[in-house]
Amino acid sequence: MSSSEAIRTENPAGRLAAMAGAGEVDVVILGAGINGAGLFRDLCAQGVSCLIVDKADFGSGTSAAPSRLIHGGLKYLETGEFRLVAQSTLERNLLLKNAPHYVSPLPTVIPIFSWSKGMLAALRTLFGSTSAPRSRGAVLIKIGLMIYDFYGSRNQVMPRHRMVGRRQALSEMPALAPSIVATGTYYDAKISHPERLVLELILDGLQANEASASANYTALAKSADGVLTFQPENGAAFSVRPKLVVNAAGPWIDDVNDSLGAPSKMIGGTKGSHILLKHDELVKNLAGRMLYFEADDGRICLVYDYLGLALVGSTDIKADNPDAVRCEPDEVEYLLDSVRTLLPGMAFERDQIVYAYSG
Ligand SMILES: Cc1cc2nc3c(=O)[nH]c(=O)nc-3n(C[C@H](O)[C@H](O)[C@H](O)COP(=O)(O)OP(=O)(O)OC[C@H]3O[C@@H](n4cnc5c(N)ncnc54)[C@H](O)[C@@H]3O)c2cc1C
Repeated sequence: MSSSEAIRTENPAGRLAAMAGAGEVDVVILGAGINGAGLFRDLCAQGVSCLIVDKADFGSGTSAAPSRLIHGGLKYLETGEFRLVAQSTLERNLLLKNAPHYVSPLPTVIPIFSWSKGMLAALRTLFGSTSAPRSRGAVLIKIGLMIYDFYGSRNQVMPRHRMVGRRQALSEMPALAPSIVATGTYYDAKISHPERLVLELILDGLQANEASASANYTALAKSADGVLTFQPENGAAFSVRPKLVVNAAGPWIDDVNDSLGAPSKMIGGTKGSHILLKHDELVKNLAGRMLYFEADDGRICLVYDYLGLALVGSTDIKADNPDAVRCEPDEVEYLLDSVRTLLPGMAFERDQIVYAYSG
């Protein structure tokens, strides 16, 4: 079989062998998380031949450990990142249309504990202070949600926000702490299986471009004179000479730059953890809504019904080695405490946890 015939085959190993035989490819993408996979699909569709490589499974890194929100970035309004919010709300709306098998609307409730708190702190944050407001009052949240609706109006598929006072809020969600003064409800989206979306993007790319290939469980063994040599976990080493290399290794970006002979220090090194609780009473009270709330220390946390379990997240803790991150006992306690304060009538115990993850 000639190499071009092999490239045409549906068999991924055949494509890879043909590409290795030819030794040439337009672009090598190192890292098959959501960013690498999205780029792979776009380039393939534009006729650019690509090889996407991951040292582990496709979509098994940070892209498998998020809060599973497809959100427009409400919190970025506080830091004045309006263009980011405009872009994210548009992408959210497009994903709701393009990937309805994974992405669905998520009504999100913000419990509010004061009317006017946080205005000055929010102004300070907007003008560059790094400390976010510790408590956001109803006025501040109303302004934020109005701006969020404005940015989310392109390709709009979900309702606008609404605010209700204490009595109505408690009748809609009786488990909330009685000290609330109001709630604001707006719409974002959630994704059921982010890892599968990564995989579908790669499959789309392979389908769009017969000259492209993918390889998981494959390590970059050597980079010299413009030639990259890879070592699959099972199989023989192979080399290609790309015109361009894209480092899409997420938190491993500095490690990959090291391997490419271009040391960098781009990643600060933090991790975030989540727990999944078997808690039927909570799931029933949530009734498909997410609670997006301030924990005791002012950090934003969330809880929502993920496939019948209550997903609670997340922490934000310094961590240097992305290969070694895990949800530690003190993070579990922090997350349980956050929901205990918010929902004082319910019990939250460690034995309700069925799964925990970190990324
Ligand atoms: C706690 C937490 C919650 C989050 N929640 C959300 C959320 O709800 N919604 C949202 O949109 N975003 C969320 N994010 C952000 C989102 O998860 C990341 O922005 C996104 O997953 C990053 O994708 P990536 O492709 O850049 O990196 P990754 O998904 O980490 O992919 C990098 C890939 O590179 C591979 N790799 C590493 N080294 C090599 C090598 N030497 N050679 C080849 N491959 C290599 C890894 O195996 C990995 O698969 C969250 C992040 C965290 C930490």
